[in-house]
Amino acid sequence: MRQQMPKQDPEIRRTNFDEVAHGFTAEQALAEAKRCLNCKKPLCVQGCPVEIEIPQFITLLIEGKPDEALAKIKEKNSLPAICGRVCPQ
Ligand code: SF4
Repeated sequence: MRQQMPKQDPEIRRTNFDEVAHGFTAEQALAEAKRCLNCKKPLCVQGCPVEIEIPQFITLLIEGKPDEALAKIKEKNSLPAICGRVCPQ
């Protein structure tokens, strides 16, 4: 089931400069990862401006290897924390 990103309430966030999205819990990240169909032609990779191997890092998350998943992302992207906030894809 699609997970909703926990966020600050708009009435609260307009009063501060704290992070808007709080991020998934480990359980939510795993549930979200399990939604991946591991497509034969992963359009997610084609659609990513830096062609991150998205199905591979998702598989690593499902296997309980978050450090390896992050390493997979960093193979193609040195600034994942920035891109995760600004990328519209
Ligand atoms: S994340 Fe990529 S591989 Fe997974 S379902 Fe979406 S398009 Fe397919």
